[in-house]
Amino acid sequence: MALIVQKYGGTSVGTVERIGNVADKVIKMREQGHDIVVTVSAMSGETNRLIELAKTASERPSAREMDVIVSTGEQVTIALLAMALEARGQAARSYTGWQVRMLTDSAHQKARIEQIDSEAITNDLQQGRVVVVAGFQGVDSDNNITTLGRGGSDTTAVALAAALKADECQIYTDVDGVYTTDPRVEPDARRLDKITFEEMLEMASLGSKVLQIRAVEFAGKYDVPLRVLSTFEDGPGTLISLDEDDTMEQALISGIAFNRDEAQVTIKGVPDHPGVAANILGPISDANIEVDMIVQNMGGKGLTDFTFTVHRNDYERAVDVLETVQAELGAKSVVADAKIVKVSLVGVGMRSHAGIASRMFKILADESVNIRMISTSEIKISVVIDEKYLELAVRALHAGFGLEQE
Ligand code: ADP
Ligand code: ASP
Ligand code: MG
Repeated sequence: MALIVQKYGGTSVGTVERIGNVADKVIKMREQGHDIVVTVSAMSGETNRLIELAKTASERPSAREMDVIVSTGEQVTIALLAMALEARGQAARSYTGWQVRMLTDSAHQKARIEQIDSEAITNDLQQGRVVVVAGFQGVDSDNNITTLGRGGSDTTAVALAAALKADECQIYTDVDGVYTTDPRVEPDARRLDKITFEEMLEMASLGSKVLQIRAVEFAGKYDVPLRVLSTFEDGPGTLISLDEDDTMEQALISGIAFNRDEAQVTIKGVPDHPGVAANILGPISDANIEVDMIVQNMGGKGLTDFTFTVHRNDYERAVDVLETVQAELGAKSVVADAKIVKVSLVGVGMRSHAGIASRMFKILADESVNIRMISTSEIKISVVIDEKYLELAVRALHAGFGLEQE
């Protein structure tokens, strides 16, 4: 008999009928003799609806009250699932984040889980109940409701699995595993049987929203066996594995991630002397804006252009900040472009193989896709390109590196 934590995403609980299907799946696992803790997201579209609703009450709602409103989505689904289980004769109990004392820090809208009080859950399991915990939410030490960032129910599930020392954490969603790239962009994408934590972490941080990055971090840190599976069809899904040698394929490239959430900001004609990068990025970090990629071009006449990318939600603020320091820096102008995307190749196989970057650039050149920025690390290469080339670039790279289905 195993203890299994399951998470069902928004589409999987999108209607009362689908919640009924989830209840049936949970009961099937119970019948195999397993203890089950389930965490659920809000019904699909609900979190977005609540965010829009909040905006109708205030142009700039506080982060604290945003967490109060968006956390209600998950409260609805836990109750509906517990009811559906009970209606089928399975004892169940639902809990919100604060009820299980999913203790987090106080960073509203991006809180980190610090501790989980598993006593009540363990007690319920011993009584033969299925425990249903609201995803995405927690409570800080001052009893404020917090949320974990978009896609945060994945992290709730992994944190529960770690706290309860579960045998497996199963993330049920609308795809049957982790693919070589988002199957919505490349229909020929292939499901991976296994992917390493390290690769999954890169994929998630480079934009693959199939798993929230913190969920992967947590699973790696606490050694939680993690699997991504389909709610709607049976299958093995994808195992996120610690063991590198274990990944059967040993392909050069495991996957292609992309991120549409970035924007590019450039400050042009800055007198180039030691300290210039710090003088530009200091005010940006003081404004709490996170910077991703950075490129500094050596210009003529002692002037330099300095380009970086930020989250699209932050780029207008970044431009404002730079415009206020422009005169002080002696810079000529500030320009920004929000119609860019970042496309990345990820694979542990890159470590032992040279020439992947040049192959990537050649494939893009053959499609006349201009590269604006490049960054590399041990197991990834990222390029920034115009948004309009996203699909073309992903598909060309997918085919060029032989990632398609056999
Ligand atoms: P849920 O609501 O269940 O959490 P998400 O929408 O957050 O579901 O995540 C599942 C989606 O992630 C898929 O529908 C798919 O379009 C997208 N996705 C992006 N990259 C990948 C990938 N590499 N493999 C599988 N799915 C991916
Ligand atoms: N409901 C939240 C969201 O839409 C959390 C989640 O689905 O994981 O981001
Ligand atoms: Mg998700």
